[in-house]
Amino acid sequence: MITEEYINGLRDELRQHNYNYYILDNPTISDFDFDQKLKELQAIEAAHPEFYDANSPTQRVGGTITKNFETIVHDHRMYSLDNSYSKDDLLDWEKRIKKMVDGEVQYTCELKYDGASMNLTYENGKLLRAVTRGDGYQGDEVTANVKTINTVPLQLKGDFPSRFDIRGEIILPIEGFLKMNEERVANDEEPYRNPRNTASGSLKLQDSTEVAKRPLECLLYSIKGDNLNIQSQFEGLEKARSWGFKVPKEAKLVNSIDEVLEYINYWDQHRHELPYEIDGVVVKVNSLFQQDELGFTAKAPRWAMAYKFKAEQVSTVLNEITYQVGRTGAITPVANLEPVQLAGTIVKRASLHNADQIEKLDIREGDTVYVEKGGEIIPKIIAVDLNQRPINSVPTEYIGECPECGTELQRIEGEAKHYCPNFNHCPPQVIGRIQHFISRKAMDIEGLGGETVALLVKENLISNYADLYELTKEQVLPLERMAEKSAENLINGIEKSKEIPFERVLFALGIRYVGETVAKKLAKHYKNIDNLLFASTLDLTNVDEIGERIAESVVEFFSSEANRSSVERLKSYGVQLEISKEKLANQTNILQGHTYVVSGVFETVSRNELKKLIEDNGGKVGSSISSKTNFLVAGDKMGPSKRAKAETLGIPIISELDFLNKLKA
Ligand code: AMP
Ligand code: ZN
Repeated sequence: MITEEYINGLRDELRQHNYNYYILDNPTISDFDFDQKLKELQAIEAAHPEFYDANSPTQRVGGTITKNFETIVHDHRMYSLDNSYSKDDLLDWEKRIKKMVDGEVQYTCELKYDGASMNLTYENGKLLRAVTRGDGYQGDEVTANVKTINTVPLQLKGDFPSRFDIRGEIILPIEGFLKMNEERVANDEEPYRNPRNTASGSLKLQDSTEVAKRPLECLLYSIKGDNLNIQSQFEGLEKARSWGFKVPKEAKLVNSIDEVLEYINYWDQHRHELPYEIDGVVVKVNSLFQQDELGFTAKAPRWAMAYKFKAEQVSTVLNEITYQVGRTGAITPVANLEPVQLAGTIVKRASLHNADQIEKLDIREGDTVYVEKGGEIIPKIIAVDLNQRPINSVPTEYIGECPECGTELQRIEGEAKHYCPNFNHCPPQVIGRIQHFISRKAMDIEGLGGETVALLVKENLISNYADLYELTKEQVLPLERMAEKSAENLINGIEKSKEIPFERVLFALGIRYVGETVAKKLAKHYKNIDNLLFASTLDLTNVDEIGERIAESVVEFFSSEANRSSVERLKSYGVQLEISKEKLANQTNILQGHTYVVSGVFETVSRNELKKLIEDNGGKVGSSISSKTNFLVAGDKMGPSKRAKAETLGIPIISELDFLNKLKA
C-alpha cells in the first residue's frame, strides 16, 4: 500500500539529489539510479492522482502546453540599471552616494550575468510563479517553463520568509549552447545566434517539454519582500543560497571603490574562464538601510551601478545609407552593413545618429567601417578605415526631402536632427503618433496593437488619434486577422481608455519633449487642458522644471489648428482632459516654493508616502541637503552627518509630526 508519506519521502530524496547535482555540483548517486527513482515516482503519481503536487520533482520534465502567456503585474517594479564605463564614472557615483547617505559605504560586487531577467515568487517555500521582466511593471507568466529549470528550487529548505520575490537571470551556459548548436547543424537547422537570445527565447516556448531539454540555469541576485529580516545585499545572497538557490560564489563584499575596480579588472581579464557569459559587473551599496535612503530615479536604483566591459569592435563594409522617419518627424540615418559577427550576434545595421556625425567621420557608402557594440541594441559606427576607401567613392550627401512623403526637411537651430514638418500627413508620423497614443504608458488601449494601427491608417479608417473614438465594430471586422471577438475587444478597449487620467492623456498627445514626468508636472500645475492651451512660453517656463525647449514645444503644439481640433474632439468623446476631482481634493499649494529633504525611518507614514504628500501639496523633494533645502524632515535613524550639515547651513530640522501638523494647518 503506497502512502502519502512514502511519496513525499521519495520526493524529498529526489529533491536532495537534484540539489547536490545542480547547485552543489556534487552528486552522490549515479544518473542511472536517479532516473530509476524518478521513474518510480512518476509511476506512483500516475496511479495516485490524489497525491498530486504541482512542485513535485517530476514536474521538471515538462509536459505543459501554454498557448497564451498571462500578463502579471510585478509586486515590486523591476528597474533597469545605470551604466558606467570608467573609473571616473564610478567615482562620480560614489560622490553622489556620499552626499545622500551617512557613514561608511560597503559595496557588494557581482557579475552581470547575460541572460533574461526573471522574477520568482515563493509562498510557504513553494514556487508560486515565475514572471519575465517585461517592461519592468508587468511581464509574462512562464511558470510551467521555469519549473523545468533544475537550478530553480520548487521547494525551499531552511528558514525562509513566508512570501517573497527573488530575482535572477536565466542563462544558457556556453557549453550547453554549443552542444545545442552542434545538434542543430547536424539536423541541417540554422544555428542559434547567441546564448542570451536563446535563453530568453526558451522562456516563451509553448511546450515546456522542449524547455526541459535545454540546459538552462537560473542565477539569483536579489530578494524583495516585506519583513524579510535581511540587513544587507550580501546577507541576502547568503540567505538565498541557504534556501537552495544557485547564487554564484564570485560575489564579493568590498569596502571601497578601489576594491570595486580591482574586482572589475580581475573579471574583465578572467571572464572567459566562466562557464557562462557576462557583460560586466554590478556594484550595489551593501546596506539595505542606505539603499533605502538612496532610493530610485525614474529608471534605476541610485544604489546600484552596472559596469559594462569594453565593447567589442569589428570592421565591415557599409553598403548603403538609408533614412528612417520617426513619430515626431525626426530623421535617423541608418547604415546597412555587410553582415558581420560581433559580440555574439550578427550585425546588419548600425545607427548613424544624424548628419553631423556622417560629416564628421566622412562616412561614405562603400567604405570599410569599424562597428562597435556597447550596451545598446543597435551598434554604432565609430570610425572609417580610409586606407580601404574605393577610388570612385563620393562624399555622402544628406537627403533634403523626406524619404516617405517628399516634403522638404527642416533643421531647427541648435538641433542635431533634421525633421519632416509634414506632421499630419507623413505616413510614419501619422502611424507613429497613434501608436504612441495607444501605448501602455499612455492610453493603454487593450486589444489594439501597433500593427493594427498601421493597418487602420492604411485602410483610411483613421488618420489621427481622435478618429479612434469614432471607429465601429463593423468598420474593423473586415480587416485582416480580425474576428468578431477581437473586433469587440478593440472597440471596448478604446471605450475604456476614456477613464485614463489627464496626466497620461497629456503624455499620449505626443507633444515633443513632453515625457511622462513632464506631463505629470503640467497636469498638476494647469489642472485642465484649457489652462494649458492658453499658457504662454513665459508662463510655462515659470512652472518648476519646465525649460524653454519644452515650453516652446508645448506652445507650438497648441498653435496648430489640427492639434487643437484633435484635442477638442477628444474632449467631446469624454476623454479625461482635466485632473480628477478626488485628486484635486487631496492637492494644495501650501508647500509651494519649498524644498524638503526626507531622511530616516518614519512611524505614521512611509518615506514614499511622505514624499508624495510633499509633492501633492506643491512642495519639492530634494535628494540631498544643500543651500536650496528649506526643511529637513528627520525620522528615526537619520545619520549624524546629515544632521550636522543641516545645522551648519541653518536648515530647520522638523519631525514627522511637525510636518503633518503643517499640512493640517
Ligand atoms: P540593463 O538591462 O542593462 O538595464 O541591466 C539590468 C539587468 O541586468 C537586470 O534586469 C538584470 O536582468 C541583469 N543582471 C544581471 N546580473 C545582475 C546582477 N548581479 N544584479 C542585478 N542585475 C543583474
Ligand atoms: Zn515626411
